[in-house]
Amino acid sequence: MDIAQRIKNLPPYLFAEIERKIAQAREEGKDIIDLGIGDPDLPTPAFIVERMCREVQNPENHRYPSYRGLGAFRQAVALWYKRRFGVNLDPEREVVALIGSKEGIAHFPWCVVDPGDLVLASDPGYPVYKIGTMLAGGIPLPLPLLPQNDFLPDFSSFSKDFLERVKVVFLNYPNNPTSRTATLAFFEEVVQLAHQFGFIIAHDLAYSEISFDGYRAPSILEVDGAREVAIEFHSLSKMCNMTGWRIGFAVGNARLIEALGRVKTNIDSGIFNAIQWAGVEALGRVEEALESVLPVYTERRNLVVETFRDLGFDLPYPKATFYVWIPVPPGFTSMSFAEYLLDRAQVVVTPGVGFGRYGEGFVRISLTTPSERLQEAMQRIQYALGG
Ligand SMILES: *Cc1c(COP(=O)(O)O)cnc(C)c1O
Repeated sequence: MDIAQRIKNLPPYLFAEIERKIAQAREEGKDIIDLGIGDPDLPTPAFIVERMCREVQNPENHRYPSYRGLGAFRQAVALWYKRRFGVNLDPEREVVALIGSKEGIAHFPWCVVDPGDLVLASDPGYPVYKIGTMLAGGIPLPLPLLPQNDFLPDFSSFSKDFLERVKVVFLNYPNNPTSRTATLAFFEEVVQLAHQFGFIIAHDLAYSEISFDGYRAPSILEVDGAREVAIEFHSLSKMCNMTGWRIGFAVGNARLIEALGRVKTNIDSGIFNAIQWAGVEALGRVEEALESVLPVYTERRNLVVETFRDLGFDLPYPKATFYVWIPVPPGFTSMSFAEYLLDRAQVVVTPGVGFGRYGEGFVRISLTTPSERLQEAMQRIQYALGG
């Protein structure tokens, strides 16, 4: 028996060595604090859970859902986009429900990428852009996000001939892992390039609501003409502490939405209707859900940034996402610095190289750990690095 080449071609799992070390340390009884994973520790707001409890008792919700999503859910998405971004969406043609945005991002290349097509994926970036492309037979190429450009891509570094051959560009702002944001003017520029060179923009907006100090992240669909070239992926996971529920959505260009729906109807059968009704509740009351969460992340962000600044690290206060992207000290790689913190402080951080080769030189800390544990982790790091 042999497994398929497309699976064998997937990049090796980079964190195997670190995971082995974590497991070993835990076995030795060490108290490890994991700041690696971006998964909210705070519970889903009670009003969403209560809606779910009611809906799960309704037999009408027990049958196969529609692969496109409940009409009421797609309507709730459109209403929220209008309220939040001032963007009008047709819930019939421009919205599709997803089993978490990861599902949609992974399936999207099947809709638009033919074998051998070139896809530019933000690097460092969410690994699914690249993996989804590979599974569809496309060729993922890194779109470098460099510190000297404040982690925005520089399209002028590519030739026109090359850009003509690009099929899809994956962007993500507010950005995981760098925590950087993009302006509407940046999106305008990319939309203009997409029209000029004929590529599709797949924008991942999973972190739009996790922002601080009054910053409000834009949707790329706010740009005139974006609807002709762009699809935007979104999710309730991060904004409503619903990672385990598996509910997200894609919006934008009607042909792309239709194509994604067509792939989905042949592969999955949608999201449990009770979860979609809970999603309707969540989208109607996003602001309420965020009220209790954002002050917590703000405080944790300040703690982490101040700790590293006091130790002599040069890093800004992120305006968005629940990550802090930290340059490693001279003499370290992202992997060796992560191992150093694990050995000396029993703290797990994510090596930047795990997000692509341009993530080298950085580690990512996630703010989704209970505050007392995060405080303990920062004290240990201060001790390990400061002496
Ligand atoms: C968490 C995350 C997602 C996926 O979230 P879902 O739970 O699948 O909706 C997508 N993109 C980025 C950048 C993420 O960090």
